[in-house]
Amino acid sequence: MDKTVLVTGASRGIGKAIINCFARQEGYYCIGTATTKENAETISKAFLNPEKGCGLVLNLQEADSVSRFTNTLQEKNLQPDILINNAGITRDNLLIRMNENQWQDVINVNLNSVFTLTKLCVKSMIKKRWGRIISISSVVALSGNPGQTNYSAAKSGLLGFTKSLALEIASRNITVNAVAPGFIESDMTARLTQSQHEKITQIVAMQRMGKAEEVAHAVYFLAGENAGYITGETININGGLYCH
Ligand code: NAP
Repeated sequence: MDKTVLVTGASRGIGKAIINCFARQEGYYCIGTATTKENAETISKAFLNPEKGCGLVLNLQEADSVSRFTNTLQEKNLQPDILINNAGITRDNLLIRMNENQWQDVINVNLNSVFTLTKLCVKSMIKKRWGRIISISSVVALSGNPGQTNYSAAKSGLLGFTKSLALEIASRNITVNAVAPGFIESDMTARLTQSQHEKITQIVAMQRMGKAEEVAHAVYFLAGENAGYITGETININGGLYCH
């Protein structure tokens, strides 16, 4: 029986690399989400065989979209065995200038959504006595970053969530882990200036940005049968940023 994988934010960047990792293997039915119908259709079309997966619309900032998504999963009788909480946004600003929307949007998409989607998926995992929940945190969860009080609060919130939930459901054979990427090439980091880029490569032992695929492979490993004794952990994928 195929395992059903749900990857939020699978239209591009790290989420797209994660879903591609599963789609290349036998034994998985993949659901990837995007915020627009067009992007969801592009995800669907990427599966040459429609039995391998589909793209669905999900905007984590809109309650209506979340409830439509929930209904679609129920109608299609899709019960994810593996949940990858990947979707994320930044709305950077110094705290003194940060407005309520910049705070709320980042907390909603990066942290509150993880509560909502995990609640949606965990009951069937408990019934099946098997599950994997993996959330994409960030290096800034532990280091902090000026201009990112909202984002680093959300990303470190995920680490506490991960450990607590791991303790709650380990006895049901469900593992809960986080992956904390450093600086990875994607639309999110494409906004960095040349000088920010140079500073990053100076402090990273590997002297380069990471690739989305390098994060995806770690997520794929954590989702597999062989990672069944790893829970409550955070895997740092940052090219040796912490080595200094
Ligand atoms: P990205 O290229 O900007 O892609 C973001 C994804 O999230 C897209 O698929 C996007 O969907 C989706 N998304 C955005 N807003 C959403 C919303 N309101 N509801 C549902 N989905 C939404 O980002 P990325 O760099 O791949 O980052 C992926 C994850 O890794 C994020 O959680 C990010 O915080 C984390 N991360 C990234 C880095 C990095 O260096 N890139 C480092 C550490 C952690 P649409 O395309 O439909 O808009």
